[in-house]
This record gives sequence, structure tokens and C-alpha cells, in this order.
Amino acid sequence: MALLQIAEPGQSQAPHQHKLAAGIDLGTTNSLVASVRSGQAETLPDAEGHHLLPSVVRYRTDGIDVGRKAKAGEAADPLNTISSAKRLIGRGVQDIKTLGNQLPYRFIQEHTAVPRIQTVAGDISPIEVSAEVLKVLSDRAEETLGGELSGVVITVPAYFDEAQRQATKDAAKLAGLHVFRLLNEPTAAAVAYGLDKRAEGIHAIYDLGGGTFDISILRLNKGVFEVMATGGDSALGGDDLDRVVAEWIMLQAEIIESTDHALLKRLMRAACEAKEALSNANSTTIDITLADGKVWQTELNRDTFNQLVDPLIKKTLMACRRAVRDAGLTLDEVNEVVMVGGSTRVPRVREKVGELFGSQPLVDIDPDRVVAVGAAIQADILAGNKPDDEMLLLDVIPLSLGIETMGGLSEKLISRNTTIPVARAQEFTTFKDGQTAIAIHVVQGERELVSDCRSLARFELRGIPPMVAGAARIRVTLEVDADGLLNVSAREMSSGVQASIEVKPSYGLTDSEIETMLRDSIAYASDDKLARSLREQQVEAARTIEALEAALADDGDRLLSSEERVRVEAALETLRGLSQSNDQKQIKQGIEELERVCGFYVERRMNQSVQQAMSGHNVEEFK
Ligand code: ADP
Ligand code: MG
Repeated sequence: MALLQIAEPGQSQAPHQHKLAAGIDLGTTNSLVASVRSGQAETLPDAEGHHLLPSVVRYRTDGIDVGRKAKAGEAADPLNTISSAKRLIGRGVQDIKTLGNQLPYRFIQEHTAVPRIQTVAGDISPIEVSAEVLKVLSDRAEETLGGELSGVVITVPAYFDEAQRQATKDAAKLAGLHVFRLLNEPTAAAVAYGLDKRAEGIHAIYDLGGGTFDISILRLNKGVFEVMATGGDSALGGDDLDRVVAEWIMLQAEIIESTDHALLKRLMRAACEAKEALSNANSTTIDITLADGKVWQTELNRDTFNQLVDPLIKKTLMACRRAVRDAGLTLDEVNEVVMVGGSTRVPRVREKVGELFGSQPLVDIDPDRVVAVGAAIQADILAGNKPDDEMLLLDVIPLSLGIETMGGLSEKLISRNTTIPVARAQEFTTFKDGQTAIAIHVVQGERELVSDCRSLARFELRGIPPMVAGAARIRVTLEVDADGLLNVSAREMSSGVQASIEVKPSYGLTDSEIETMLRDSIAYASDDKLARSLREQQVEAARTIEALEAALADDGDRLLSSEERVRVEAALETLRGLSQSNDQKQIKQGIEELERVCGFYVERRMNQSVQQAMSGHNVEEFK
């Protein structure tokens, strides 16, 4: 019979009162889950002993793979294997237009608030991809810990804006998780090192992951963290180290501009393996099976590797200088530097960062796991397992928050790097006599023009008593809570009319939207595709019409007889009518018909322009 356990007075609670909680590092490349067990925060491995879960999801017609298995299938099935969800989450259709070009996926950009990716399993949003990763990790935690999680802490980059934070929360909701709160990744790393307990001071968190680099400057004061500044490069990470090594191999092996995808994949893999090997050895052997099947071999030593990666490391150091300056500090005021991210295993990175800050970086905790460990410590506290431990974590707003004013300008109420939670108010007034409503548009960003900032939310304050322009006093309050989520309220001071809004960022989702999302994404997949190609065909028709109109105005009188002109005009009129219809096929036929009727006219115009181009020139010049 087991002995009954009795806790020491004032010490830990009985075991059955211990609430299960986990910290999740939802990474771009890899994700992890950690939990506090027997007073010790540690990451939890899967059944095969792997702690890192590649943040990759592969959609198949008959199921979903997550992690290692999905990653293994990526080369063979790139369109259905999503490995960049964190780069896409909370982004709008406009953002994706620039980002999307670098990614192999088929994006659906119309008729959706959030961008969706076409896969064999239907259209998928980045939120759903992240939800799959979260689900695998929380299942792992519940199996390991032997019970249901009361809640989780999920980490996000310090620079994540409102929409990206909200979208991350939505992903957790979709995965059926209760989120205690979101925590900035650098803050989590600092918590993992117990910097809150160690000393007062200023700390730099240097995080070089797979595809991103983040630098954050934290100030610790009486056990309170404050993120003073953040910076970095969202397109710089371990993948870039791999790339410079791969380019070096190509040069050595005299592989010139290859379009052989399988070979390029092999090259990238060999480069990555060599890079990781060089973190522990001074030299490594690289084997590559070339396109002709022959195996080519070379040695890469650490000195050469260092030379290859130095320009990239230098870029990160410049971002460090900038962040320190943003925080209003000098480099020698930084007391400790914490290394985070798998790429900080590279000895050259540690050396150069140490040189810049003039101190030995902290590397005792595995840089892959340190963020998850910090999140687990925080989750344990928020679950109520440590009632005495009152840890306050302050974060900063990464981008200024403002309100749109006349002329499309942004009036900033809360400037970037302000610590949260925070509330700021400002008074605005009406523009026209008798105006009874105002539209409030909340934006985020540093630029002056609203069109250059990110739109977060819009709402209206109605019922303002009619007054002359400029007489109403409307007080708008922006409030950001500890999770970094925004609330906005507006109040007309003389009448007391007020309106407030729980801001759902433009790209975020309401509860019911999430519920219907999965269903809709499948139901509308073919509609979306049709709508898109119809729109494209209409644009094409408009372009054709416009070009012909311009040509007729230009030389229609000279080049066409009146009988010919009647024919051309008739075909043009037919297409004009068709282009308004919703029948894509008919529009296409209309364009083709117009092109057929006008063929002779196009030819005449071309001949004419050739003659014009040649007139006054010697024929010899054109030979
Ligand atoms: P993220 O935060 O972006 O999810 P991680 O922190 O997991 O990424 O870092 C992944 C990167 O770390 C990859 O580029 C990987 O090659 C690199 N990495 C892992 N181990 C080593 C090592 N021993 N030496 C050098 N780089 C490493
Ligand atoms: Mg990371």
C-alpha cells in the first residue's frame, strides 16, 4: 500500500491540486513543448526521444502529417507541405503578395479575410497549420504528464503585431487549448536563465533561428522585466548559412547554375549537415552525388566556413547596435547576452557576439530549448502552482499605435517601445457642421501616411449631437493589455455618447468565424477558384477594349475605310456587353472574336509603325 503523502507546512500543495500546464515555443523552423515537473522545467520528447518538432505540416488526401514525417515528404510534395506558417500567420492578403513570391504555395487571395493555401485537402489558412503543430505538442504533453492541460503559455516574437498575436491565439483556440497568455520569446529566454532573480541590469537576447534573427534588449529592475527595444531581420537565419555553404560547394564542384531540383535539395542538405558538424569539429567531409551519379567529395574546415558566414554574422551585429541605440543605451551598458536559437551553436556566432558586447554570452541552457523552458516556468506560475511567486513581465509595443485623421494621416497615440500594459487617450473633433458620427480607424506603424501603416480596426461613434465643426470633443482611448491585445473606446465628452470596441484586428477572426472556417474552406474552394478566373478574364477584356479604343482614336480615321470601321466598332461593342457578364467562357470567346475581326487592322498598324521607324534611316542600319 502506498504511503499517504503529507506536505511540509507552507510548502507545496498536495499532488492532486497541482494543475498541469505547459509552455510552447511555436517556432518558424522547430517547435517544442516544456513543463515543470518536480520543480524542474524541461522540454518533453516524443516517443522516439526527439524534443524538436519540425514546424511542418503536410496535407494529404487521406490525412495529415506533422513534424518529421511531413518534413521528409516536403521535397516530393512541396505544394501540400507547409513549412512557413509562422511567416504567414496574421498577415493580410497584401503582405502575402510580397512574401508569397518566395514561397512555393498556391495562394488563394480573393474573397477571404485571411490568405489561404490550396492543398489536396482543401484550402488551408496559416492559422490552421499552426493549430496542427500546437495539437501535436499539447497531445504529447498530456500523454507525458498524464492528464489534461489546464492551460498553456505560447511564445511569440517580440515584434509580432496585434494581428499576428491574435492569429496565434486563434490557432490555439482551434487546437482546443486554453491560453494563459502569450509571452515574448526573449522574455521567456530571460526567465529560463532566472535573470529575474539573479541581478538587476540590462540584458540582450540574441536569437538566431532557422530563418529569422531577433535581437531584444531587456531591462531588469527589482525583478521586473521590461523589453526596451527589439530589432532583427525576418529573412536571416540558419538557412542562409546553409545557402552560402551550398554556394561554396557548387563552386568547388564546378556545378554551374543547376535547375535540377533534386540536386539542389541534396546540396542544401549536405551544406546544413556540414554546418552543424563544424559546430563541434574543426573540419568535416562533404559528399555529394552529382547529376551524373558520381560522388564528389571535399573537406570544409572551420576557417573557410567562418569566412563564408562572416558577412551574415556582421548583418546581425549591425541590428544589435541599432537595437541598443533604440533603447537609448550604449553597448557596454549591456550586462548579459543570452544566446537563443539553434544557429547560436555556431562557434563563430558566439565569438563575434561576445566581441561586440565585450562579454561571454550565456549558453548553458540548450539554445533550441531555452524559450520553451521559460514559457513552461511562466505557465506553471499562471496555473496557480506557485502562489507566492509573483513574477511581473513587462513587454513593449513593437510598433506605434495611432488613429487616422483627415488627409489620411496617422496620429500616434502610443509610440513604439512603450511598455505594456498601457492606456493613452487623445481628443479629436468633428470636421463638418452637424456631423453626428465619426469613423475611427486604428493603425499600427511608424509611417506618417495611413496607407503605409497596417490597418488594425475600424469602428464608428454614432449619436453625436449636431454641433458646428470643431465643437465636439471626442476622446479616443487606446488600451493594450498584458498579452499585447488592444481595446479601443471613444466618448463624446459634452453628450457622454460612447462606443467601444473589442478590437479584432483586420486579419484576425471572430469565434464563429473560426468555427465555420474549416467547413467554408472546403465548401468554397471551387467557388473561389472560379471567381478568380472570372475576374482575370474580365480584366483581360477591359484591357483589350481599352487598347482598341486608343488605337481607333489614334489612327482609325487614316487606316480604316468607313465600312471597315463599322465592323470593328460592332465587334468592340459586342465585347463591351459580354465583359459585364459572369460567363467566363463567353468573355473569352468575345476577346478571341474581336482579335479575329481586327486582325487586318493590327497588321496595318504594325506595318505603319515599321515604316515610321525606318523613315529617315538608311536601310543598312537595320540589317
Ligand atoms: P526557429 O526558432 O526558427 O524555429 P531553431 O532555433 O530551432 O529555429 O533553429 C534552427 C536552426 O538551427 C537551423 O538552421 C539549424 O540548422 C540550426 N542548428 C541546429 N543545430 C545546429 C548546430 N549544431 N550548429 C549550427 N546550426 C545548428
Ligand atoms: Mg526560435
